[in-house]
Amino acid sequence: MAEQKPHFLLVTYPVQGHINPALQFAKRLLRAGARVTFSTTVSAYRKMEKGNSIPKGVTFTTFSDGYDDGYRRNVDGDGQTYLSVFRQRGSESLRELLKKSAAEGNPVTCLVYTLLLPWAAEVARGLNVPSALLWIQPATVFDVYYYYFNEYNDVISECEKDPSWCLKLPNLPFELKARDLPSFLLPSNSYSYTCALLPSFKEQMEELEKEEKATILVNTFEALEADMLRSIEKFQLIPIGPLLPSAFLDGKDPLDKSFGGDLFQRSKDGDYMEWLNSQEKSSVIYVSFGSLSVLSKPQMEELARALIQTRRPFLWVIREKETKEKEKQDQETKQAEEEEEELSCMGELKQQGLIVPWCSQVEVLSHPSIGCFVTHCGWNSTLESLTSGVPMVAFPQWTDQTTNAKLVQDVWKTGVRVKPSEEDGLVKSEELGRCLEVVMESDETKENAKRWRDLAIQASFSKPFNPKNEYGQFKNRRSTKLKGA
Ligand code: UDP
Repeated sequence: MAEQKPHFLLVTYPVQGHINPALQFAKRLLRAGARVTFSTTVSAYRKMEKGNSIPKGVTFTTFSDGYDDGYRRNVDGDGQTYLSVFRQRGSESLRELLKKSAAEGNPVTCLVYTLLLPWAAEVARGLNVPSALLWIQPATVFDVYYYYFNEYNDVISECEKDPSWCLKLPNLPFELKARDLPSFLLPSNSYSYTCALLPSFKEQMEELEKEEKATILVNTFEALEADMLRSIEKFQLIPIGPLLPSAFLDGKDPLDKSFGGDLFQRSKDGDYMEWLNSQEKSSVIYVSFGSLSVLSKPQMEELARALIQTRRPFLWVIREKETKEKEKQDQETKQAEEEEEELSCMGELKQQGLIVPWCSQVEVLSHPSIGCFVTHCGWNSTLESLTSGVPMVAFPQWTDQTTNAKLVQDVWKTGVRVKPSEEDGLVKSEELGRCLEVVMESDETKENAKRWRDLAIQASFSKPFNPKNEYGQFKNRRSTKLKGA
C-alpha cells in the first residue's frame, strides 16, 4: 500500500508578521514532500485576494475569528473582546476543519499554529492530532516570557522603579534593562489591547508545559541564538529559520522571491525596484515600521527632517489606512489620520526619495543599493535585514521589538538603537541623523552585518530542513518518508 504523505495544517493569527514566516514554513514543507494546508481568518484571506497576493502551490483554507467582515476596534469591542470571540469561534471553526479533513480521507497529521492561538493546541489534543507552536519571535523573547511567568514576575515588576535596574536571567549571556524587556511586561504598559495579549502568552506557556519536553519551532538559527535556544531545559526549542523565500537563502527555488500573502496593496504608480536600480551601491536608506505600528504626526515630522538633513536617497513605506471610514472615533485612528495629513516637508522629501504604501520588503532589502534600514525591529524585519547584510537603525515601538533592538545593538552589533528625548519621548531629527551617520559610515557595523548574512545563509544550507527529524512528532509513525528540502 502506498505510504500516505504527512499532512500539516498551518494556522496563523491574521497579521502579516505571523502569516509571512508561516507561509515560508509551508513552502519548505511542500518542498520536503509533505502535504500542506494553510489557514488564516476569512477577513485576512480576503485582503490577500484583494491584493492578488495568494501564493501559488499552497492550498489555502480559512477559519473564522468571529469577524469575517473585519474587526473594528471601536465598534466591535476592545482587544479582550476580540481575543475571547476569536477563541470561541476559532476553536469551533478549527475543530470543524480538522474533522472535515479526516472525513475526506486527508487527515491532518500535525497542526502548527502561531502565537496568540494557544487554544489551537487544545483543539488538536481533543482530536488526537499532534501540534507544535511556531514561535515567530526570537528565542530570547521566548525565554524572557518563560522566566517572567516562572519566578521572575516580582523581580520584573520592579523594573521601572529604579533607573539602574537590570536583570540577568539564567543562561542568557547578557543583562536586560527595563527598556529591553518586551513592552507587554512593563508595569506602565496600561494600553488595553496589549494588556489583553499578555494572558494569552501565559496560557501559551501553560499549554506547552502540559507536554513532556514540548517542541517549539523557532524562526531563528543556531549561530544567532545558541545559548538562548538551550536556556530552558524543559522545552526543546528547534531553530528552523531564517524563514525567508528560497531565492534569498538556499536558492533551491530561484522564482521564490517574495513572501506572497500580503495584507496590504503595493504601490500602483512607479516601480520602486526600477528606482532602486538607478541608485548607487549602499546609498539608500530604507524606512519601514512594519504592518501594525503607527507613528504620531510629530514623530513623522522628526523622521522626515532627519531624512532631508542626511541628503541621502531613501525609500519610505507609509501604509495607507484602509479602514479609516469605519474607525473615525478610534483614538489610534485619529493618530493615523494625523499621519496621513501631508507632512510639512513633503515637497522636499519627494525630490530626494520615494514614498510607497507597501513593497516587497525582502526584495528591497536584498537590493545592492540599500545602505541601511530604519526599522521598528519587528522580528521578521530584523531577520530579513540580518539575512540581507543590511545594518539597522533600531527604532522599536512595542511588544518584542524592544528586546530585538537590544540584540541588534549590543549582541549582534549590526546597528544602533535610537534614544528618545527625555522631554517628550520623541526621537528627534538630530538623534536620528546621528544614528544614520554611524550606521551608514561604520565599517565595523557593516562587517558585522555581512558576517551575519553569511551565517544566516550557511544556516539554511548546512542543515537541510527535514520535518521528520526536526519535528520529531512523526518518529513513531510509519507514514512519513520525507526528503531534506
Ligand atoms: N513587509 C512587507 N512590505 C512592507 C512592509 C513590511 O513585505 O512594505 C513585511 C516584512 O517583510 C515583514 C512583515 O511585513 O515580513 C512585517 O513583520 P514584522 O515582524 O517585521 O513586523 P510587524 O508588522 O509584525 O510589526
